Amino acid sequence: MDLLTSCKDKLAYFRIKELKDVLTLLGLSKQGKKQDLVDRILAILSDGQVSKIWAKKSAIGKEEAAKLVDDTYRKMQVSGATDLASKGQGTSNCGNSKFNVEIDEPFHSDTKVRCPCGTSLETELMIKCEDCKCHVWQHIGCIIIPEEAMEGTPQVPDVFYCEICRLSRADPFWVTVAHPLYPVKLAATNVPTDGSSPVQGVEKTFHLTRADKDLLAKQEYDVQAWCMLLNDKVPFRMQWPHYADLQVNGIAVRAINRPGSQLLGANGRDDGPIITPCAKDGINKLSLTGCDARIFCLGVRIVKRRTVQQILNMIPKESEGERFEDALARVCRCVGGTATDNACSDSDLEVVADSFGVNLRCPMSGSRMKVAGRFKPCAHMGCFDLEVFWQCPICLKNYSLENIIVDPYFNRITSKALRGRYNRD
Ligand SMILES: [Zn+2]
Ligand SMILES: [Zn+2]
Ligand SMILES: [Zn+2]
Ligand SMILES: [Zn+2]
Repeated sequence: MDLLTSCKDKLAYFRIKELKDVLTLLGLSKQGKKQDLVDRILAILSDGQVSKIWAKKSAIGKEEAAKLVDDTYRKMQVSGATDLASKGQGTSNCGNSKFNVEIDEPFHSDTKVRCPCGTSLETELMIKCEDCKCHVWQHIGCIIIPEEAMEGTPQVPDVFYCEICRLSRADPFWVTVAHPLYPVKLAATNVPTDGSSPVQGVEKTFHLTRADKDLLAKQEYDVQAWCMLLNDKVPFRMQWPHYADLQVNGIAVRAINRPGSQLLGANGRDDGPIITPCAKDGINKLSLTGCDARIFCLGVRIVKRRTVQQILNMIPKESEGERFEDALARVCRCVGGTATDNACSDSDLEVVADSFGVNLRCPMSGSRMKVAGRFKPCAHMGCFDLEVFWQCPICLKNYSLENIIVDPYFNRITSKALRGRYNRD
């Protein structure tokens, strides 16, 4: 039997999960119907396409791909399919390695389906959270909600984070300690026929244990209600529906600081109210209504407050964030040259700085930057004083603390400029 035929036979036994595992390990897309996934794997096995794709990065051939199929199949036989299902998480999202043939590496302990719809059924169309410690699966139909009703399946984002992982990146000052209420979707309770926004809401209970209460007695711990727009274009922020009306144990809690009718802009964000004073031991009642056509989810978490200093300590040291040459190359790219231009290969910073003028003022505070920070994925050269941890004030893109680095280029200029000033003084 040739490679293709034997793999085809084995793939026939695979469920969606095993197919996705193999695709993950191959670094290929896991989206689509079951047959699409099978076809994608077979395409690699049939013409060695994979070796073309990865010729530069690694020497992956169809033999390796066949070995993955074989290994997965043998594991299904040895441990029983259900057992395998609980171990079969892929690893491609961890670190940078696109491909990992080491199928015996310790996998994430189980495949979790946690969806704000409340069911944990495995369906054909699921998407996995990017976060390495999470890897939770959700139903695409439940969470990828297009802004306007479109035909066919909505656009699935390249990088997807579940609500819990979005939340943990939304505000570095709050560390999630526990989830007394995992996110639940608000449901439309009244859809008006005149085209105005439907009333939506949810009523839930959450439980606080004695241990939770002991924790909450400490000053730095609190209970927080939070709300998020599903499929928000700005992923790492909270957002409450229009005219949000939140009640905890019958007590009205102010959820937002903006007027109920005002839309949250691309650079705005809501907070999650602290509900510690209205929460009690045991069962607590929570309700939220709003008047909004979009889909939101509501949750309750126990949080621990971080200090500014703790957050600053989490940002990698300048020497660990980015090489100076890379920073210089970016600056050159942004001013229209390349790193090999004469002007740029000159390491005399004052000359470089003189030739095009850089702004050493923080766009947030307006004063001279002390430590110039940036979000690593930003393409522009502008920096800001390390004081914002969630959104770039230059391009307004939404990032989280884990993406922040010290800009070695700007930092060298600012420290030189400062030193110059001190020397004069
Ligand atoms: Zn769901
Ligand atoms: Zn992982
Ligand atoms: Zn997640
Ligand atoms: Zn930016």
